[in-house]
Amino acid sequence: MSYEEEEEDNAFIQMVSRNHQMFKNRNMTFYSKQGKNIVATILPTIPDNIIVCDGCNDLIKDEEVGLLMLEENHVWGTQCKKCISKYYSELSVVNHI
Ligand SMILES: [Zn+2]
Repeated sequence: MSYEEEEEDNAFIQMVSRNHQMFKNRNMTFYSKQGKNIVATILPTIPDNIIVCDGCNDLIKDEEVGLLMLEENHVWGTQCKKCISKYYSELSVVNHI
């Protein structure tokens, strides 16, 4: 069995509320090297209500957001309903944490 097949066995879709803590105060720090220095630039905070599907980049406007979980506690990314039914219909869907 290849590694990829093993990974798929544990994967599932976790549904969470769009008001979940994970979508609050999202910011990102971008590190770059300038000469000998590593410079940290804090990028602007993403508004809480802007949730983008990692599958198709569409805005997710549903009350619930699907998370593709590779295994327990390993979030791969957000998925909209369209992408879940198109690519992950064989995975089980778990509601709320
Ligand atoms: Zn999508």
